[in-house]
Amino acid sequence: MSLAEEMDTVTGESAGSVDRHATSRTFESTDPATGAVVGVFPLHDADAVGSTVEQAREAAASWAALGFDGRRQRLDAYRGYLARRLHELADLVHRENGKPHADAILEISLAIDHLAWASHHARKALGPRRVRVGLLAANHAAYLEYQPLGVVGVIGPWNYPVFTPMGSIAYALAAGNAVVFKPSEYTPAIGAWLAAAWRAAVPDAADAFQVVTGFGDTGAALCRAGVGKIAFTGSAPTGRKVMATCAETLTPVLMELGGKDAMIVDDDADVVAAADAAVWGAMSNGGQTCIGVERVYATAAVYDRFVAEVTAQVRSLRPGSDDEATYGPMTMPSQIDVVRRHVQDAASAGARVITGGTDHDAFPGEGYVAPTVLLDVPEESAAIREETFGPTLTITRVRDAEEALRLANDTSYGLAGSIFSGSKARALDLARRMRSGMTSINSVLTFASVPALPFGGVGDSGFGRIHGEDGLKEFTRAKAITRQRFALPTNVMSFHRPANTADQLARVIGMVHGRHR
Ligand code: NAD
Repeated sequence: MSLAEEMDTVTGESAGSVDRHATSRTFESTDPATGAVVGVFPLHDADAVGSTVEQAREAAASWAALGFDGRRQRLDAYRGYLARRLHELADLVHRENGKPHADAILEISLAIDHLAWASHHARKALGPRRVRVGLLAANHAAYLEYQPLGVVGVIGPWNYPVFTPMGSIAYALAAGNAVVFKPSEYTPAIGAWLAAAWRAAVPDAADAFQVVTGFGDTGAALCRAGVGKIAFTGSAPTGRKVMATCAETLTPVLMELGGKDAMIVDDDADVVAAADAAVWGAMSNGGQTCIGVERVYATAAVYDRFVAEVTAQVRSLRPGSDDEATYGPMTMPSQIDVVRRHVQDAASAGARVITGGTDHDAFPGEGYVAPTVLLDVPEESAAIREETFGPTLTITRVRDAEEALRLANDTSYGLAGSIFSGSKARALDLARRMRSGMTSINSVLTFASVPALPFGGVGDSGFGRIHGEDGLKEFTRAKAITRQRFALPTNVMSFHRPANTADQLARVIGMVHGRHR
């Protein structure tokens, strides 16, 4: 029996039967392509969230006590379980989020790879180590370790409903925390499936990863539930609300927010490859990708060829929910209005709409947006300044890569970006100066598939990092310990120190540091 069938009691009418934190109110999630109900879920209120967190707190102690090896063994069992049920989960992702099955497979595969990396690198990144003591504590030993925070609350979005929350969940668990996850109200079945899979694969630590379902109120209750940290992934406006709520209890936050990522196409770029990457980066997942390409700045030398290539490639795309569709419906219906406003605003400001657009043909059937390419969009337009989060792309002609970089950086966001260039040195220089947390050269989105690399943004794209060693440390507190190995005849930190101690110390400091000018 599939896990989804076993979970029918969760997702069906009798949701309460497996909801151990009883609540009588429920809500539905629906298939964005058909409107069919995918499942019915408990609307967890503050009491239910509070008792889930308490249960997770108890589990956290035994989960931490398992140590790195014990946790690794169980996280390995979890990833094995996910890998064996990959198609089943991908089917659910297709139904509830709308993305093509193949894209769901890619997303889940990335999440599994991160799980493996996190569990296998946690000891090296976080385990106890001795550090050098320096001059003033030469008679001591010093130890550093990264201890878990207890319970981590994860609040997730709907656009990558497996990969995105797993970037926090996997790393928080590997670091020794229990996790309570609040999936988006658009993808609760996927969240519930991930937690049910955990219970099945890791029965002896089942409460170390639990799910609560509901809307923003449930997320706010998680912020107030006394967790050790909130890992939030979502939009910048909601991120501000989450921070304000967490401020009430001084709960630390990790903010993974939206983006307005740019691609720079330089004079010597491989134009065909750049166009291929731009179209994928902008249109895959219906453009509902935080690190999707929303703006391209192409130099005058390549602009015409690049536009022609993008136009040709975009014509072969088709939104739909059948097996041949290249991307699916908009998961969140209200986003269509945002996309339409950005395109209309750009068109009325003089932009050229070369494919897609705002008319009826551009919205082929309810819930879909045609791939839309906009040229000459004024820099102050919403389509350049705000996150569009749809299958749209602006292409702007610039004099050279320096102008491209200046415009790419002229945004309140700063999540990621990409550079296409024939010169390694030039591309690396541009990448370093791009104001973003991540940049890929001659490809798009690649950094997300490298588990050792940190993931996160600057400015309105948030702060803190998931993935890599930084991502593991994000879910810990650094603990410093010193141990006196032997007593010195003179202890400078004692009221019994001789009167001349300070002079002797000043002489030593002068000898060691004074010669530096
Ligand atoms: P959203 O901000 O609307 O919602 C995110 C989550 O926050 C949901 O689970 C929601 O229920 C919850 N929430 C809403 N109000 C809340 C409140 N007051 N307190 C606590 N929780 C609350 O975002 P979304 O529409 O689900 O996702 C799309 C956004 O996420 C886009 O902006 C996208 O760029 C961003 N995103 C960022 C990353 C990243 O890693 N930086 C990854 C994926 C998506």
